[in-house]
Amino acid sequence: MRIILIDPSSEARDLLARRLRALDYTVECAPDGLSGAELALSAPPAAVIADLWMPGVSGVQLCRLLRTEPATKEVPIVLRAERDDPRNRFWANCAGATGFVASRRMGELVRLLEKVAVARDDAFFMHFGAGVRDVRDRIARTLDQAMFESVIAGEVRALAGACSVARLFDSLSQLTSQLLTYRWLGLSTLSPVNVAVHAHPSSLETAEAEARRVLRVGPAVCALSVVDGDAAAFSAEQAGPTVSREIVFGGTPIGRIALAPTGPIEEAEEIVELLARDLGGAIRMAALVESSQRMASTDALTQLPNRRAFVENMRAELSRTSRDGASLSLLMLDVDRFKAINDTRGHAAGDAVLTELGRILPKHARDYDLVARWGGEEFVVALPSSNRMAALIVAERLRQAVANMSVADPAGGAPLMATVSIGAATQVPGDSLDSLLERADRALYAAKLSGRDCVYVLDTAHDEPRRSDVRGAEEGGVVSERGYERAA
Ligand code: GH3
Ligand code: MG
Ligand code: MG
Repeated sequence: MRIILIDPSSEARDLLARRLRALDYTVECAPDGLSGAELALSAPPAAVIADLWMPGVSGVQLCRLLRTEPATKEVPIVLRAERDDPRNRFWANCAGATGFVASRRMGELVRLLEKVAVARDDAFFMHFGAGVRDVRDRIARTLDQAMFESVIAGEVRALAGACSVARLFDSLSQLTSQLLTYRWLGLSTLSPVNVAVHAHPSSLETAEAEARRVLRVGPAVCALSVVDGDAAAFSAEQAGPTVSREIVFGGTPIGRIALAPTGPIEEAEEIVELLARDLGGAIRMAALVESSQRMASTDALTQLPNRRAFVENMRAELSRTSRDGASLSLLMLDVDRFKAINDTRGHAAGDAVLTELGRILPKHARDYDLVARWGGEEFVVALPSSNRMAALIVAERLRQAVANMSVADPAGGAPLMATVSIGAATQVPGDSLDSLLERADRALYAAKLSGRDCVYVLDTAHDEPRRSDVRGAEEGGVVSERGYERAA
């Protein structure tokens, strides 16, 4: 039986070849993976013995190569390495080797060969031997393809480092647009439910509609979009074929990737297939990081940012405003006699009031205001680019909104009502977050002392808190979207 023996060390090769020849094997030797592969492909042997970590084409690569070629798919391959450790066995196994034997265990190798080596009718394979040139081309192609696939797999797995699905998609679009040209690239995920589209700025609308159809995502899910010139521009009439693949992680479908190529569909299919293969793990990881970051910065009861997230945001905001000279204002809100709600209606009723506050405060603040739960029954609102007057108008609007709210009692009793006292402060030169918070807090204290359900403001640390002169509707003033209209 003909055995191909590949080992870069001539001593090791000769030693083993002698032993095998003594056992009546025909041994052909090769010093490296490439020449070994050529020998094996031009006439498939009874078995191949190769070094696992030889330079150039390694045993792992050789194994993959021989497994993809029809002529050598079934040829037994035994890989050898100096050390008999689990890692080497793992690699040999992954590559599809028939067995792994430590280099010095020649007896074991011989016994294994007796079991696995298969005599071949060489004539049967002669039609594969279309010349060495052809074999070399095939090897080069397979190795290039394997290299291409492993590079893409590596790039896709690296997307796991993205800290959100949105960022992952941005990086995915950068990677994919380097591999082929397309009109759009789309990705949908099931948990959290997301749909993302990469398209040319002039074609986004058409691209999104088409991507939603292919990915089967309805209009209720808001799309994340990446727009740039890396995607090809097109018009609605230029719609063409699309490719889509399910993304699976741990046997469970977790999303879909889709693409509308401008070039050959086969190429697009191959690339989308490659991307989909490794994308599952990366998406799971990015989604996990995203949700744990959200959990760490969100208050579970009210779903508002918590104190930590607020402080982090404010540090950045304050350094920006002190550079730009814009003023920022701060409101501190505290629910009046909240303990009484807990005591008379129960803790769950108190929770229901806080939950409702978490819903209505952002609704009555402006889009760019930041509402957060400071702790307990206290809330803070940051008002960027807002002077004293603007802040007092928002404060009054929030006070009124709370006074008018009516919350269903979880125990089925009468609706729950609440009021808030509010302290306001506007940034002055030299303010830190702490000094600003302290003034708002002193103003809040003054509001409590004066009877609650009102707004107080403290301009500088040396002033006394003063009651806001922006009046609510019940006092004849009107606070509307347009601003404050003083009572006549
Ligand atoms: P004041 O008008 O002076 O602010 O009176 P108050 O009763 O609101 O103030 P106090 O600080 O005495 O009471 C606040 C209460 O808020 C005490 C605490 O048990 C309750 N509380 C804090 N966090 C929560 C929460 O998450 N859920 C509920 N139900 N109660 C909470
Ligand atoms: Mg309090
Ligand atoms: Mg309170």
